[in-house]
Amino acid sequence: MSEKTQAEILKEELFYSPEHAAYACEDEEIAKADAFCEGYKQFLNACKTEREAAAFVKELAEKNGYVPFDPKASYKAGDKVYSDIRSKALILCTFGSESLEKGAKIVASHIDSPRLDLKPNPLYEDAELALFKTHYYGGIKKYQWTAIPLALHGIIYRRDGSCIKVCLGEDEGDPQFVVTDLLPHLDKKQANRPMSEAIEGENLNILVGSRPFAKDKGSEMVKLNIMKLLNEKYGIIEADFLSAELEAVPAFKASDIGFDRSMVGSYGHDDRVCAYPSVMAEIDTVMPKYTSVTVITDKEETGSDGNTGLHSAFLKHFIADIAKTQGLCGRDVLRASECLSADVNAGFDPTYPSVHDKLNAAFINRGIVVTKYTGSRGKSSTNDANAEFMAKIRTLFDNSKVAWQIGELGKVDEGGGGTVAKYVANLGVEVVDVGVPVLSMHAPFEVVAKLDVYMAYKGFKAFLEQ
Ligand code: MN
Ligand code: MN
Repeated sequence: MSEKTQAEILKEELFYSPEHAAYACEDEEIAKADAFCEGYKQFLNACKTEREAAAFVKELAEKNGYVPFDPKASYKAGDKVYSDIRSKALILCTFGSESLEKGAKIVASHIDSPRLDLKPNPLYEDAELALFKTHYYGGIKKYQWTAIPLALHGIIYRRDGSCIKVCLGEDEGDPQFVVTDLLPHLDKKQANRPMSEAIEGENLNILVGSRPFAKDKGSEMVKLNIMKLLNEKYGIIEADFLSAELEAVPAFKASDIGFDRSMVGSYGHDDRVCAYPSVMAEIDTVMPKYTSVTVITDKEETGSDGNTGLHSAFLKHFIADIAKTQGLCGRDVLRASECLSADVNAGFDPTYPSVHDKLNAAFINRGIVVTKYTGSRGKSSTNDANAEFMAKIRTLFDNSKVAWQIGELGKVDEGGGGTVAKYVANLGVEVVDVGVPVLSMHAPFEVVAKLDVYMAYKGFKAFLEQ
């Protein structure tokens, strides 16, 4: 082996040069990452909506010794509690050996993903086809949602108050659903429209049936047949749609991507790829010094509003409640607390290099991305993490052998986006965005690298256990 030149040695010493995480990992650790992602894939397949993810995590937490938080109880170090926020968000917490005066370590991710929500009055018949009207949820490229198999998830409340769970299109043999698209032979006008207008929101209608009720003649016989089937299966009438939340999501299962199986393709990595590792890290945090608070929230994709989103008071109130158990004031705890806003960032895509500044872009397989700021047009609407906190996280990850990189969401003025970071920061908490880089973000089938998923787990665990 030839010796390194002086320049090479100096470069190593002076240059910032993030590299493929595989170079820094022992084979053993790569195997651990692959094994971790087997559990992650099961989670992806079992939880396609925020309700399903919240229920899954609640059950997992209970199995691991978490009990419902009681504001009137007193807790000792190592005690594990949870708070259920209207079945769509969840907080897991492990009390630390230090007083909450020293602050909590918070990791916050989201469990909602872009999808097609059914409208309150969705079912209609046209040209002897039965269809559902939808209103899309979150930022989607509408053309990606046509001509792919869809599954229906959600709940329906009947007039008598009883609740029906719906999950159709996931099991082998289940019927599936689809938004149809124009054939290329007849799409001249459509093809000449800008991509953002090629498919209109009101055209995202889901095909759900095509056979009439019996042989009776009359209007809306196909719709009647669908209502009859729904009545038989779920005991519902059409008006019950008004008190339902039904969501159409891609019916695909998560799968390994690549000959080397180094990646996972799935619907909804954003942001279950941060939620799952953070929950596993929280569960594995047994006797932390500082109290750990792991939040999986709803509504991030629509701006974090609503009482299950992080713009609401549920986190602030939870912190106030745990503070009270130690005779403290919530705002004093918040002021001393630190948070990783755990959300995905865009991975550099060599097919579309022009939207990124390569110096500041995240690459899949280089570990988790620390994103100092998000926002758009001159950092508008961002939590711009303080250098003091960036320094702390940098040292923590380096010392814990967590592969990490910095990342910015695209070039200046190319677009932009936001996360829950600013809502937590607005409470007075130190916050920085940390998450997994994703290819094809917000598409029905997104891609992440297994090493990055594992590094998210490692990074969150190091943060919660510091
Ligand atoms: Mn996200
Ligand atoms: Mn998103």
